[in-house]
Amino acid sequence: MFFAVIALSRVAIVGAGFVGSSFAYALMIRGITSEIVFIDIDKKRAEGEALDLNHGLSFVRPVKICAGDYSDCETADIVVISAGTTQKPGQSRLALTHSNFEIMKQIVPQVTRYNSECIFLIATNPVDVMTYAVLKLSGFPARKVVGSGTILDTSRFRYVLAEHLKIDPRNVHAYIIGEHGDSEVPVWSLANVAGTRLREYCPLCGEKYDMKFLNSIFQKVKTAAYEIIELKGRTYYAIGLGLTRIVESILRNENAILTVSSLIQDYYGISDVCLSVPSIINREGIADILRLSLEENEVELLHKSAEVLKKTINSLEFP
Ligand code: NAD
Repeated sequence: MFFAVIALSRVAIVGAGFVGSSFAYALMIRGITSEIVFIDIDKKRAEGEALDLNHGLSFVRPVKICAGDYSDCETADIVVISAGTTQKPGQSRLALTHSNFEIMKQIVPQVTRYNSECIFLIATNPVDVMTYAVLKLSGFPARKVVGSGTILDTSRFRYVLAEHLKIDPRNVHAYIIGEHGDSEVPVWSLANVAGTRLREYCPLCGEKYDMKFLNSIFQKVKTAAYEIIELKGRTYYAIGLGLTRIVESILRNENAILTVSSLIQDYYGISDVCLSVPSIINREGIADILRLSLEENEVELLHKSAEVLKKTINSLEFP
């Protein structure tokens, strides 16, 4: 059954830059799709990435990797968009809005010309705003337009907490919700280890659960991208793995719970904006959005995050 699923799957990647190629590398190693196609305005770059990856095929499960054009989206199950401009040191993700919106306006109609059934997965920043843009530009149902959202921030959160608590990050259950950006929200009230709320778990392993502890952890998570961009110019490996995890959940119909960005309606009074909350992901895309029991201050922060995104979305001029 598993082989029947992967035998038919094609993932098209529009944008063969650092993010697109790191994602393809992780996807190839994971062995969960049978075809990967790179599409890029820079055809040479797409061809080079495909060739480089093809030279590793003797070490992984069979997968066909090539450079192509938009007609290759026709049989794609998932079209991943990682094309666009990147943050300069110190620049916010929201500063990329208008340049990357222009790029979405070029890409989306070329994909939908060939395929009206695929799932769009967006990584381009500011990812929540671009997810909303792709949703409107494609006219696709909301469940089929998924942004990588805070999957990366949640992973950073779990890593930083795990480092402090000296446990495996996979055993830390904690989410970052809202914008993938400066207004993101840590859900401290529901964070837990082995079913034990963090505020009870911390004393068990000799850590203080106080504002100083919480602020120091969240600060590291929130500024992680700025720090990496300052150090090496870009971030790409962890988002490559995050995108692979989302694709895996879609292609294998897993019903995995991941913090991805999608259209939110009537969520603590928030509507008509794309942002992240834990969502169930399967072959249909977004199967459901979880209604978390948030504390009052967390709801307030989520509202502020939604406002930041709405203001940016309202500045877009759709064709
Ligand atoms: P990059 O410059 O290495 O690659 C971008 C690619 O997009 C280039 O190959 C370029 O030729 C291509 N491109 C530009 N315009 C295009 C168009 N109209 N059609 C097709 N291709 C086009 O950049 P990168 O480091 O790969 O980053 C890509 C995007 O991903 C950025 O917006 C970045 O901010 C974002 N990003 C998101 C996350 C996340 O968590 N969602 C993490 C890291 C980076």
